[in-house]
Amino acid sequence: MKPLTFDNRFVTDLPGDPQQGTGVREVRAALYSLVNPTPVAAPRLLAWSRETAALLDLEEGDVASPEFAQVFGGNALLEGMRPFAANYGGHQFGHWAGQLGDGRAISLGEAINAAGQRWELQLKGAGPTPYSRTADGRAVLRSSIREFLCSEAMHHLGVPTTRALSLVATGEPVVRDMFYDGHPKAEPGAIVCRVAPSFLRFGNFELPASRGELPLLKQLADFTIRRDFPELEGEGEALYSRWFAQVCERTATMVAHWMRVGFVHGVMNTDNMSILGLTIDYGPYGWIDDYDPDWTPNTTDAQGRRYRFAWQPKIAYWNLTRLAGALSSLFASPEPLQEGLQRYRETYAAADQDNIARKLGLAECREEDAALMEDLQSLLHAGEVDMSIFFRGLAWVDPAAPTLDPLNGAFYDASKRSATEPALMDWLRRYAARIGSDPLDYETRQARMRMANPRFVLRNYLAQQAIDRAEQGDEEGIAELLDVMRHPYDEQPGREIFAQRRPDWARDRAGCSMLSCSS
Ligand code: AMP
Ligand code: MG
Repeated sequence: MKPLTFDNRFVTDLPGDPQQGTGVREVRAALYSLVNPTPVAAPRLLAWSRETAALLDLEEGDVASPEFAQVFGGNALLEGMRPFAANYGGHQFGHWAGQLGDGRAISLGEAINAAGQRWELQLKGAGPTPYSRTADGRAVLRSSIREFLCSEAMHHLGVPTTRALSLVATGEPVVRDMFYDGHPKAEPGAIVCRVAPSFLRFGNFELPASRGELPLLKQLADFTIRRDFPELEGEGEALYSRWFAQVCERTATMVAHWMRVGFVHGVMNTDNMSILGLTIDYGPYGWIDDYDPDWTPNTTDAQGRRYRFAWQPKIAYWNLTRLAGALSSLFASPEPLQEGLQRYRETYAAADQDNIARKLGLAECREEDAALMEDLQSLLHAGEVDMSIFFRGLAWVDPAAPTLDPLNGAFYDASKRSATEPALMDWLRRYAARIGSDPLDYETRQARMRMANPRFVLRNYLAQQAIDRAEQGDEEGIAELLDVMRHPYDEQPGREIFAQRRPDWARDRAGCSMLSCSS
């Protein structure tokens, strides 16, 4: 494969752990540890993304070379790579958890492409690091397929996200107790190569702050602003204020996208929140099938449901308050941080209104439209109606004579449908009247709704079907699903099967409706 150019600014400019090796340890006064991937038995490329490869100026010939699977399986390094694991902490499920760090992610280096863009390459599941604590540093095939596919699906949906270059089978088993119930099992292992301008998280800033390592925190903040936010102007506190406000703004935009497409992250701990406002760390995430604001796919969170769908905007805000706390030593007074948080509230409110207008096909969101949307959401919940299918079908409802016909495919339960049908019809008539007073013409409205309401999302059961096939040795399902998810807003005739509601068999099946952090 062709060589890549690396500048590795993070490890070049910032202090690292003086100690070598993978021994588990507390790493103080350092932002990372240099550590190499641990080689695997038989790396084999299962899938790759041509769009992400193109970001690195890589083509099919590069990906097909035997060297590619060696490098992205962790068995070889390209000239210029300097692998490291980052040191970070985090608030997990609302509680400070201390040092966490990249326990199974190893960044290979920061590549600079021909256009001058920076792309950090990071292997997930590449073996132990000083941050592996009691775990093995590996990842199973099922969770790697899920991360690979969802990273790319989110990108094509227009949601800010880290990307995925490759999925490599390791040829080694990994033992996991999927539901932590005393039934450990050997599963095939795999490694995803993730790609993003940076994988820094809120937790990278929280850890030095928690330890009183304030010069280190300042060094990291200055570095991040220079490297990742070069457009921000000013210096000192004014610059920090702009930066924090920018992080708040990007986070709000990201979460608003999640709410638009029906994505539930599942583990919104502060160590899983990107400082760039990218969706990061695809673990027990899920997609809303029937509209349920209280749903979370994560069985580890089944009790409190902290990371349920509808709470994501307020959880992101809470996470930003943790980041604000961590950054407070950079400011003489709390006002700039409060203003940043205010920016979150304003950006989210505006994005939410934009979602309402676009999902309903309105020129703009008027005051009464928030209630229109809320009432609809209550009905979708009560009637057990599929979120994606409903909004997609809504564009086909004739305002002159509204019926539920275009929405037939969206109902999961006949008796719940009957019970909510009268109220839904009332709502459709109200909606039709609202459209009547809206300036958009039919075509414009339809196009607007098509672009806001995806026909194809990575439904949990679709990913699980690709996983089942891959575990049987047939990896075609991964490339096929990736290809469907490339054009989520297009009709894609012939691919109706990927746009249908979750089948009954998938309702309570592991991987389809319930996922654990064990991956
Ligand atoms: P998560 O919430 O899945 O993003 O992970 C939380 C922390 O656990 C991070 O520090 C991970 O690096 C670490 N971790 C998760 N799985 C493993 C594993 N198999 N081996 C080592 N560390 C892990
Ligand atoms: Mg994580």
